[in-house]
Amino acid sequence: MPTLGTALMDITARPDQVFLRGEGSWLWDDRGRRYLDFVQGWAVNTLGHAPACIREALARQSGLLLTPSPAFHNAPAIALADLLCQHSVFDQVFFTNSGAEANEGAIKLARKWGQLHRGGAHEIITLGDAFHGRTLATMSASGKPGWDRMFAPQVAGFPKALLNDLASVQALIGKDTVAIMLEPVQGESGVHPATTTFLQGLRALCDQHGLLLIFDEVQTGIGRLGSLFGYQHFGIAPDIMTLAKGLGGGVPIGALLARQQACVFAHGDQGGTFNGNALMCAVGLSVMQAVLADGFLAQVHTAGDYLGERLQALSAQYGLGAARGVGLLRALDLGQPLAAAVVAHARERLMLGGAGNTGLLLNAPRPSVLRFMPALTVTHAEVDQMIDGLSASLDALEVGLESITDRKPQLVSTALR
Ligand SMILES: *Cc1c(COP(=O)(O)O)cnc(C)c1O
Repeated sequence: MPTLGTALMDITARPDQVFLRGEGSWLWDDRGRRYLDFVQGWAVNTLGHAPACIREALARQSGLLLTPSPAFHNAPAIALADLLCQHSVFDQVFFTNSGAEANEGAIKLARKWGQLHRGGAHEIITLGDAFHGRTLATMSASGKPGWDRMFAPQVAGFPKALLNDLASVQALIGKDTVAIMLEPVQGESGVHPATTTFLQGLRALCDQHGLLLIFDEVQTGIGRLGSLFGYQHFGIAPDIMTLAKGLGGGVPIGALLARQQACVFAHGDQGGTFNGNALMCAVGLSVMQAVLADGFLAQVHTAGDYLGERLQALSAQYGLGAARGVGLLRALDLGQPLAAAVVAHARERLMLGGAGNTGLLLNAPRPSVLRFMPALTVTHAEVDQMIDGLSASLDALEVGLESITDRKPQLVSTALR
């Protein structure tokens, strides 16, 4: 029976730690333990915990103006929209408070465009195992197994094709189709990248049939793949893109971006009380400026390659499954449904070689898959420390090859509790 946080709705199994403070790649809890954080608020803390530029943006903007109302202009919203458009193929931005809300906006925009230009076509082809959010429409757009019945009836109009199977998309295109929507790298499914060929094929299908191509870049946007936006990594330009997670660097802000021909909302079609408020937009601006600074994305690229190499080597050493991903969005398939056990072990045990009271925070999006989504500022030394901690947990739980003879479980420190 949990005694902690009982006034919070019990929507997930939370561990007992109460996190008090963070700095860069590190978190501290209420017992004075520190953790190397490769979850980072779920790929949210672009610049790590409590970066100076966000503290300054919050302090400066909160002393000026929190929000004048969504029906008035504010300077940070104008500046952030300008910056996003300057550095992308998009012409206009609508700010939201979350990724799901940005995707809801994208769905509405596509349906409106279908009413205006495609005789009422409204179906949006999405993919199996896709994740687009937790509102009713975005759950319906998602392809997570079981979600089609969870809060029935679904929002209609999201036929499902398969990732990297162009024929499966083509087969679903009909007179009611208005758009194709996907994540360039599926995040929640366990980090499954689309192939460039598949994305090129989707772009061609959209051009041929007069459909909108929508990229959900809630997880892949803002430097995560080593390019500012994921579509740039693949060299394919969508018509509509959504952002959230990394855009706020830890605060809630999302965005819906569209090219001119798709910016079809009329007055009254879209809105929201907190949307584009000055405080969150000021933070988004500071994050964008940091990511656009000279050398920043090159360093993400280098760190991503290094993390990828270390995970490949670990997979080979332990005889595990695929190490996959792009930039600093990576996964390791353990080949056994032990990912949750590894996550719990890494969090609760002292790390090998770590300085004392140190745990490791990882994520298990699927029963046999670990996901790695560190701060974009993660160092090679921190990647090395993560690999050491993970190895210790793999050893202790005897994950991987039976034939590994040099396991040293006696070196794994005992549980703290
Ligand atoms: C996290 C995520 C969402 C949902 O964003 P929220 O801010 O949690 O609503 C949507 N799409 C993708 C690809 C995501 O990773």
